[in-house]
Amino acid sequence: MGVHATFCQLCALPTQHDHYVPSVGGMLRIYRGRSGSAPSESGRSENGGHDWADEPQKPFPFGPQHAWLNEAVGLDLGGGDAIFRGPVEDGGLDDVASGESIFVWDGNDEALVFHERCWALMGCPKTAEKALRGGGTLEWSLLERYHEQLFEFRELEADGKAWMLADPATDARSRARIVSLIEARRHAAPSDTEPKSLADVLSQDVDWRAVTTRVEQRERRHLVYYRQAPHRGMSLSAYPHLLCLLKGYATEEILATGPMLDALERFQLAMKSALEHDGLGVMVLTSLGEGKAQYLAYVKDLQAAHARVDALPGRDEPMPARYDDSNDPTWRIILEEMGLPKR
Ligand SMILES: [Zn+2]
Repeated sequence: MGVHATFCQLCALPTQHDHYVPSVGGMLRIYRGRSGSAPSESGRSENGGHDWADEPQKPFPFGPQHAWLNEAVGLDLGGGDAIFRGPVEDGGLDDVASGESIFVWDGNDEALVFHERCWALMGCPKTAEKALRGGGTLEWSLLERYHEQLFEFRELEADGKAWMLADPATDARSRARIVSLIEARRHAAPSDTEPKSLADVLSQDVDWRAVTTRVEQRERRHLVYYRQAPHRGMSLSAYPHLLCLLKGYATEEILATGPMLDALERFQLAMKSALEHDGLGVMVLTSLGEGKAQYLAYVKDLQAAHARVDALPGRDEPMPARYDDSNDPTWRIILEEMGLPKR
């Protein structure tokens, strides 16, 4: 079993602190959440199993507010109703009570894995069938791009999202993120069958995908979030107008970073909710890059949709937004012109 991360199947954050830290000479060292936590007698911190004192790049600075990430619960997927609890490393959950190690891999193998906090906020479901899953939601896709072999804590921090790592038991903003996801999943339709209509797409709401395009090896150029489920075989004509909100965030051609990126990404959650809650629109894509953000939704009534979007906080931040709408009853623009990868 190699080095591997496991993710909470509700909130998409990892169930361990392990991450890679670039070292001198281009090597990667692994910070291990279970190895050591106190500075040694020499005063050098050996957190995570290494002495980082001479390293130019340090591990993510974990504090007491991050301890909850290590506390996992696994619900049996083997047909039983056992509940496993303990730390997770490299795809194995070590059940403290039995001493057994359960193979959970990414969080969905012999058991379905959640943070203990997320599980408790869900109402402590006793079986995997009763638990809520976040996979495929827009909220999930916002974190999916940090799901490398080990979670990219530093990249998450650089994108202004470190607030999500705070303990939901004591941090209201972190808790609100998880609670709103739980509410949305509780009201969602079962997603074990292919959606046959736009109504199914909206009620299941698990077809989101994130794509990152990079320059050279690492530097990110564009982030795109889009729905994969709508297709030609569905009746699309009830939503004939493509609403396109264009928002500049920089004068030069760059990808937003820090709290700006976080705010631009979260704006799509607000827009999605404003348009979709009663079926007025279907949010289909958000693209960030080259100094501008584009938010696309197909809507029944353009004027009504504009009114809702115009009322959203942050619509004109950091620069005034404008519309570039199209009449597109066959959804040609999103289904053909954009060249999006299909599932
Ligand atoms: Zn969680």
